[in-house]
Amino acid sequence: RSNAEKFEFQAEVSRLMDIIINSLYSNKDIFLRELISNASDALDKIRFLSLTDKEILGEGDNTKLEILIKLDKEKKILSIRDRGIGMTKEDLIKNLGTIAKSGTSAFVEKMQTSGDLNLIGQFGVGFYSVYLVADYVEVISKHNDDIQYVWESKADGAFAISEDTWNEPLGRGTEIRLHLREEAGEYADESKLKDLVKKYSEFINFPIYLWASNEVDVEVPADDDESSDEEESSESSSEEKEEDAEKSEDEDAEKKPKTKKVKETTYEWELLNDVKAIWLRNPKEVTDEEYTKFYKSLAKDFSEEKPMAWSHFTAEGDVEFKAVLFVPPKAPQDLYESYYNTKKSNLKLYVRRVFISDEFDELLPKYLNFLKGLVDSDTLPLNVSREMLQQHSSLKTIKKKLIRKALDMIRKIAEEDPDESADKDKKDVESSDDDEKRGQYTKFWNEFGKSIKLGIIEDATNRNRLAKLLRFETTKSDGKLTSLDQYISRMKPGQKDIFYITGTSKEQLENSPFLERLKKKNYEVIFFTDPVDEYLMQYLMDYEDKKFQNVSKEGLKLGKDSKDKDLKESFKDLTKWWKGALAKDNVDDVKVSNRLDNTPCVVVTSKYGWSANMERIMQSQTL
Ligand code: ADP
Ligand code: MG
Repeated sequence: RSNAEKFEFQAEVSRLMDIIINSLYSNKDIFLRELISNASDALDKIRFLSLTDKEILGEGDNTKLEILIKLDKEKKILSIRDRGIGMTKEDLIKNLGTIAKSGTSAFVEKMQTSGDLNLIGQFGVGFYSVYLVADYVEVISKHNDDIQYVWESKADGAFAISEDTWNEPLGRGTEIRLHLREEAGEYADESKLKDLVKKYSEFINFPIYLWASNEVDVEVPADDDESSDEEESSESSSEEKEEDAEKSEDEDAEKKPKTKKVKETTYEWELLNDVKAIWLRNPKEVTDEEYTKFYKSLAKDFSEEKPMAWSHFTAEGDVEFKAVLFVPPKAPQDLYESYYNTKKSNLKLYVRRVFISDEFDELLPKYLNFLKGLVDSDTLPLNVSREMLQQHSSLKTIKKKLIRKALDMIRKIAEEDPDESADKDKKDVESSDDDEKRGQYTKFWNEFGKSIKLGIIEDATNRNRLAKLLRFETTKSDGKLTSLDQYISRMKPGQKDIFYITGTSKEQLENSPFLERLKKKNYEVIFFTDPVDEYLMQYLMDYEDKKFQNVSKEGLKLGKDSKDKDLKESFKDLTKWWKGALAKDNVDDVKVSNRLDNTPCVVVTSKYGWSANMERIMQSQTL
């Protein structure tokens, strides 16, 4: 094309496209899911803008927020069109090729090891999945602020953009035209497309139509050509019989004009989805399978696994909203990598069914940003900017309730997990339901335990609730995880404090001289071996009226021993001499202690100082 401008794909994008083109990945269906998801995003965007600017939708068909799928069976062209926000020329250049998203290289890397393209949407590069089924793709787009352009590429390292002077004007929105590859012929089939839309797009909140063909019988004046008569009779002999019967019944009717029936193909837009939002339904009527599917489409997580838990509820009162929260089956790789730099929450905010944003950080505290879900509020105003919404007073109430519900949901994972229950009686009544829930909390803990710890550090209001969710190993837990409640239930009579020790590994700690005496006296000691635990214990001072005591620090009390006083007295000279000999700069004090057994002496840190482990952490800056 004479007016085409050529561009090269950014290197990572180009690599990604190569991988997709050459992929042996068998589930090529996913391209349709990605395109519909993009169409839906684009419609969400224009609908959001229309809240504050009615004019933006235009008039006529432009006001219809819909997705239209069309197939040209002969030419093997499949097109997906939306009346969404569209893309300007600059958008086309940036979004489809020259700027790699942050997830691009991560996804390329993942592809090389797993080859599983299913998660492409999670990495923000779903569009390129079109090259699983097409060798040539055109993107026609019209944004309100620009004229209509065509982006096109054969995935050969380059794409072209031209001013669109030959296609029908779109009005507004985007049409993706896929020229199907030879081996992707199966997609040039309406029933296949219908099945796929049903399968993948159940939770799209815009109507999806297919330009569907219909074979209908029409009567046309019969000509005298015998051969065509024969054809008809061989096609449907039963119909002919009926016709014959009618004729004999209708004997005194005038002689009918001679007509014949022929098949004709007509087309009409057929609605493929039901747009009733799942969160508006009664939770009792939504099946587990529906929640699982909803999670997958919401989180773009199309792995085999089910979410670990969900909570669907309606909040009433001053602030009304409905919400669905999910605990994903797995933590994303980078969940904690950039924890302090990213702010992104994973909740979608709707106001009266209208999607507002999925980057609303005011809905959940950072430590819960591993949750996925959605909030739809009737209380928040619709016709204000995102910035205004962010300051709306209702948000605080919503946030508070969401946190409670989220923590309840997590607590329930533990409660329903038979492995968690210390109660032996419960273990006897096992059902298959139990089997499914067995080990779930350990799984949760391994994936998201760190978030609970960060919560204890960050959220003073819910500290106790979060502390209940803590799990750790102890000197008595036998390699298993245990909770503070379980620890307390095992405390010795007269034991006042909860004992713990920090270090880099359980193995290292198990032989610590600090534990000798405690072990001998049968006290249980918690092992805290995660670097974050040191910070955690600066915030977690007590639990259920019991103080935490680091056994490597000053202040360890193991019940009174009558000999203590005598011992202190008789070693007075020695401790005094020692203190002098070690000089003031090295130790604060030298004391007789009952904490040891075989080891003659240990160095302990003062109550308010850093533990030795913390010193090590600060030196290596592991967090
Ligand atoms: P993601 O949807 O995760 O952002 P994609 O690779 O699917 O990643 O799409 C890349 C970008 O291309 C989108 O973020 C969007 O800006 C743009 N885009 C894709 N499809 C459309 C569309 N139908 N309408 C408007 N913009 C689109
Ligand atoms: Mg996408």
